[in-house]
Amino acid sequence: MAGIRDLYEILGLPRTATQDEIRKAYRRLARELHPDSSGDPATEERFKEVTAAYEILSDPDKRQRYDLYGGGGPEAFPFGDISEIFEAFFGTGTFGRRREPTPRSRTRRGEDLRAGVLLTFEEAAFGIRRDVTVDALRACDRCGGSGAEPGTSPTRCRTCGGTGQVQEVRRSIFGTVMTARGCTTCEGTGQEIQAKCERCRGEGRVAAERTIPVDVPAGVAHGVELRVPGLGHAGRAAGPPGDLFLSIAVKESPVFERRGQDLFAVVEVPMVQAALGAELEVETLDGEDRVKLGPGTESGTVIRLRGKGIPNLGRRGRGDLYLTVHVGTPRDLGKEQRRLLEELAEMRGEAAGGGPAVRAHLRRPT
Ligand SMILES: [Zn+2]
Ligand SMILES: [Zn+2]
Repeated sequence: MAGIRDLYEILGLPRTATQDEIRKAYRRLARELHPDSSGDPATEERFKEVTAAYEILSDPDKRQRYDLYGGGGPEAFPFGDISEIFEAFFGTGTFGRRREPTPRSRTRRGEDLRAGVLLTFEEAAFGIRRDVTVDALRACDRCGGSGAEPGTSPTRCRTCGGTGQVQEVRRSIFGTVMTARGCTTCEGTGQEIQAKCERCRGEGRVAAERTIPVDVPAGVAHGVELRVPGLGHAGRAAGPPGDLFLSIAVKESPVFERRGQDLFAVVEVPMVQAALGAELEVETLDGEDRVKLGPGTESGTVIRLRGKGIPNLGRRGRGDLYLTVHVGTPRDLGKEQRRLLEELAEMRGEAAGGGPAVRAHLRRPT
């Protein structure tokens, strides 16, 4: 009750305002706050408040009653919000317009369904048709989804008389206040099932395992959610079905790291190959490919294989494959190999394998 504001305050007027001043204040505020000109919910609320206040204060009779009972400040005012004040002065309905109760339709959209799909790295890259088994509610075939035993049909709800609403009467100092609530017997539908279907117990739907072939598109990534329209739970009373959402999980590749649609891998190149150059056979998603390595290839060199990455999801084109060269140092030199390397070191003036300390060349990291 503390939230309710004084009707004069709502219109920005003193209690001594004349009918003319009330009318002028209302016109000005209504122009300012009209819902058509803003669309902001807060403004719309304020518009309703202003309208309600005006309708009471512009009627000398109602104004007098308000001044008598509602004028003692917020504490003295026995209502939760402005619509209740309004109901107190105008009877049932919201802001003077009596609403005809209309029952809600029994029809409901089915709930969405979720399932997980685990794919190998290659399946995610190139797409796959996968059978997904889900527990989905489907329309009951005994009652055709109505929930009523065959040969019977839903009847008018006895609690609410088919309106879907139950009227409640409260007494207040201004007289009786009527409020309407959704009927709990029929969930506001106005219809009651007396003879419930034996199979679905009146639900109209039964649980059933269903296997759905799903085409997972090429290029999906770990963690994405695919929406398959219409394959969720069946709707109630012939309502449309929900959707199926598939959470995609993708196994890691032992070779490739995926970043977006690009792939990254390290290619191990032995020291001598790196020095002399070589033609390499490398593994790609599409099978073996050939890569030419120039003589004197350094560790850290990046080789880009265009179009050898992951296909773009839902459009043409593919990412690239990036190979970073890692030059490997031999650790298993035999006697003869060691002698050859020592010979090479001597020829190049690169002291190695013991002896006096060697001056090393430093540079800034790049
Ligand atoms: Zn049934
Ligand atoms: Zn009812």
